[in-house]
Amino acid sequence: MKQIVKSSKLNDVCYDIRGPVLTEAKRLEDEGHRVLKLNIGNPAPFGFEAPDDILKDVIHNLPTAQGYADAKGLYSARVAVMQYYQQHNIKNIDIEDVFIGNGVSELIVMAMQALLNSGDEVLLPAPDYPLWTAAVTLSSGTPVHYRCDEQAGWFPDIEDIKAKITPNTRAIVLINPNNPTGAVYSKELLLEVIEVARAHGLVVFSDEIYDKILYDDAKHTCIASLADDLLFVTFSGLSKNYRVAGFRSGWMVLSGNKKLGRSYMEGLNLLASMRMCANVPCQHAVQTALGGYQSINDLVQADGRLRLQRDTAWRLLEQIPGISCVKPQGAMYCFAKVDANRFNIRNDEQMILDLLRQEKVLLVHGSAFNLKDGCYFRLVFLPHADVLQSALGKVERFFAGYLQD
Ligand code: PLP
Repeated sequence: MKQIVKSSKLNDVCYDIRGPVLTEAKRLEDEGHRVLKLNIGNPAPFGFEAPDDILKDVIHNLPTAQGYADAKGLYSARVAVMQYYQQHNIKNIDIEDVFIGNGVSELIVMAMQALLNSGDEVLLPAPDYPLWTAAVTLSSGTPVHYRCDEQAGWFPDIEDIKAKITPNTRAIVLINPNNPTGAVYSKELLLEVIEVARAHGLVVFSDEIYDKILYDDAKHTCIASLADDLLFVTFSGLSKNYRVAGFRSGWMVLSGNKKLGRSYMEGLNLLASMRMCANVPCQHAVQTALGGYQSINDLVQADGRLRLQRDTAWRLLEQIPGISCVKPQGAMYCFAKVDANRFNIRNDEQMILDLLRQEKVLLVHGSAFNLKDGCYFRLVFLPHADVLQSALGKVERFFAGYLQD
């Protein structure tokens, strides 16, 4: 019988966070090993419970959520999102500018599918959250990675961005607060990005899914609040701030110079309609989440659980000979640098596989985030401090004896 071959449009699409390393972790689990998975930013399994009101609201509305909703989302959810951004100084949004999706993931793919033609280039951070690169490639666009500078707290390198613009560049993507680096961008940096986008007529896509997960004195600024002459698309959702990643509930909002985006909006409306609507029961959580008590603030304040875990993970990483890490200011990850010369490392994925097999700790290698230079890994600091301590003890033991042959 003839083989069923996957579409060639998937040939260059990569999403290595759930790639071969995870397959190996599953194999080890099938053999009966316990693997500590510090690879995915999924708060609930680590005991971060969702606010009660959200759960109550979804349960309460379940009986009336059996039918399809409007393709762009429930009115109550979209009004809540609109008001949230109005309060954050994004002007010129109305309800038609808000799309509710099955998580930000669905909307990222939709946003790229509606925009790109073959050969169109999109500027993306390196390192990035790799779904962005995958979505550009899947949509027949060309991902062009700009450098984020570790020496500058992982801020985007504006000169590198400028150098990578061509007549085919359509858009720039920012992830702020950043996954995987934990950087939170200053207003000054965002204004510089706006200047570049303005000079070259770029759409600005801003993934702000960690906008409430901020440590120390970090302040988040919505880039879309800083100008109204460009087209901005801002993304966020319930997965991280409200710890309900399984609800698959996120949103995207167009703002700024929407006259530029009339045809693009038609494309988005078409794609939203083709998938009927997002999961309806969980859309009921949106208004309650945004309008209710913001328990995420308790978790990130000085003695909050997430903040203490960030401190523990970062401190222990920095103590490992050959490892260093810029202190994350937001999100739920440490992105650590490995001194590749010291360990003779030529392949970071192999390093992560070796760690997994030896210590049964699962991390993600830096190249999975489209970072080609240097050797890095990302660690999720969602487990309690004692678990992190034990995991990082294992990581330290691994590196103490590691030399890649
Ligand atoms: N954007 C970033 C930067 C993320 O880190 C993630 C998930 O880890 C997503 C988007 C996807 O979020 P969602 O669960 O809303 O699909």
